[in-house]
Amino acid sequence: MTSSPTSAPASAALLERASSVIPGGVNSPVRAFRAVGGTPRFIREAQGPWLTDVDGRRYVDLLCSWGPMILGHAHPDVLAAVRSAADKGFSFGTPSENEVLLAEEIVNRIAPLEQVRLVSSGTEATMSAVRLARGVTGRAVIVKFAGCYHGHVDALLAAAGSGVATLALPDSAGVPAEMTADTIVLPYNDIAALEAVFAARGHEIAAVITEAAAGNMGVVPPAPGFTAALRRITREHGALLISDEVMTGFRCGRAGWFGLEGEAGYAGGAPDLFTFGKVMGGGFPAAAFGGTAEVMSHLAPLGPVYQAGTLSGNPVATAAGLATLKGCTDELYPRLEATAHAIADAASAALSGEGVAHTVQWAGSMFSIFFRDQPVTNYDDAREQDTAAYGRFFHSMLDAGVHLPPSAFEAWFVSGSHDEEAIGVVLDALPAAARAAAQG
Ligand code: PMP
Repeated sequence: MTSSPTSAPASAALLERASSVIPGGVNSPVRAFRAVGGTPRFIREAQGPWLTDVDGRRYVDLLCSWGPMILGHAHPDVLAAVRSAADKGFSFGTPSENEVLLAEEIVNRIAPLEQVRLVSSGTEATMSAVRLARGVTGRAVIVKFAGCYHGHVDALLAAAGSGVATLALPDSAGVPAEMTADTIVLPYNDIAALEAVFAARGHEIAAVITEAAAGNMGVVPPAPGFTAALRRITREHGALLISDEVMTGFRCGRAGWFGLEGEAGYAGGAPDLFTFGKVMGGGFPAAAFGGTAEVMSHLAPLGPVYQAGTLSGNPVATAAGLATLKGCTDELYPRLEATAHAIADAASAALSGEGVAHTVQWAGSMFSIFFRDQPVTNYDDAREQDTAAYGRFFHSMLDAGVHLPPSAFEAWFVSGSHDEEAIGVVLDALPAAARAAAQG
């Protein structure tokens, strides 16, 4: 059951025009609705928890731009900061104060972090962190986990999650074998596999990169002890640990996944490098990677590892990021979790009522509903879900005015602006969506 173009005529018309000048009509593959079918909605404007499409229909937004819009759309404080920054010019190509303020705000939230370098996308952050890890250690091999997505970095596009998972691509064409020859892919949450690889090749391994909590195969938090094992094993072998917090950073808590306590967290010691994006840009292109001053001193201009960017630390993007992080208070996170639970619990009850097999999984307020009854601990598990059922569920919700991620392999996001009215629209839509999911 996918909506026909007639249910979104203006979007369908724009998609047709877009498709002649933009491949697939979209500038990022998962936006194309390939997995769920139907017409992607072209959004005209967004306010708080609402998206309005070019046909004039409103949707409760549970996508939040894939994570960044944690305060809701066009939040007044962020808007004021952006306007004020833009009034003073758009890009200088020189150092500027906003960069310092944003870097200080990030570093002050995460104790072991001493320095960050600002970049413009999560992809740039992970690409640069990998280069830095290789430069610091003088080693080449990178270990990543199947189903984790770290942006479209050549060396990391092996068994990647997100759109690569959605489109069921084994890997990407255009990445020569040499580019991934030094990439080892292991199953997520498998300590024994990690031990075995390090026993055999530990002296060659520059770094292990992991999503702090996986969100790109759907939400799969690290099993108790997994993160601590990553820290212990990398340290024993002189490899660096890169915690990719592009999605979880400032989203799972004010200090991201790192700030959360418990057996799935970093009690075993801090990672050597962090990567951030999404929330820290407040909807603008800003991202970062960072670590101790010692590790970061290997970067140009201090050290030999080169990395640069014309728009890095852009004054408008950093103003948006800073204003957004200022709104990421201790008070925000319990509210996000309450909203997310209200939605997930009701969805789960509706699905159970219709006998639809499903499992809800969490990382802070990020969650996914997998359409299978067993817990998901790795990418193989995630791929066993009923994606067709998700597609039917997705379209029923969309028709009722709720925009979910258009893929079963993604997290759902809420914002501080999701109020009773918005939550009410979601809850009202769930019974019919559960019935649609059941009609396989
Ligand atoms: N790392 C993670 C964990 C991500 O979720 C993403 C994006 N979804 C990226 C890296 C890449 O970020 P960007 O899309 O900004 O390049």
